Amino acid sequence: MRLLIPDAIRVDHDELTTLVLEGFHGVGKRGVELHLSAHRGRVIFHGRAWPEIPPGAAVAPETRYLVQISMPKAPSQNGFPFEWRYPRRKTAPWLVAHTWQERLLAVAAHEAYHVKQFRFGMRRSEVTAERWAAKALERFRSRGLIQMDR
Ligand SMILES: [Zn+2]
Repeated sequence: MRLLIPDAIRVDHDELTTLVLEGFHGVGKRGVELHLSAHRGRVIFHGRAWPEIPPGAAVAPETRYLVQISMPKAPSQNGFPFEWRYPRRKTAPWLVAHTWQERLLAVAAHEAYHVKQFRFGMRRSEVTAERWAAKALERFRSRGLIQMDR
């Protein structure tokens, strides 16, 4: 797995790497490239997984799946806890992130599950991806990795 973190994101890049890899726990990483990008907002984390490399994307030759996550360049705990449910899916679970780190983890896990769906020709269910993200959050919390200090 190849991970690109722009310098514009002003938090410890090792921490970002740990969170993103935790999001991919239990999901194949081979042939995956994940690009983080920064925006000026405070709360929005948005992910997208591509079943095929989009035209013009700068990826390594061996990359088969691209995941893009856009996040605040200076994330803060303002706006957390943050609660969400995948829009227009009545069976999607309600999820809550207590910190921006949990939100990033959940977005990474959701997109990681889409990669699994692409790889194995599974149905591209948003609800299943959200349930997977819920499990990733539970695992993350049970391992005591929550950081509340930033
Ligand atoms: Zn999705």
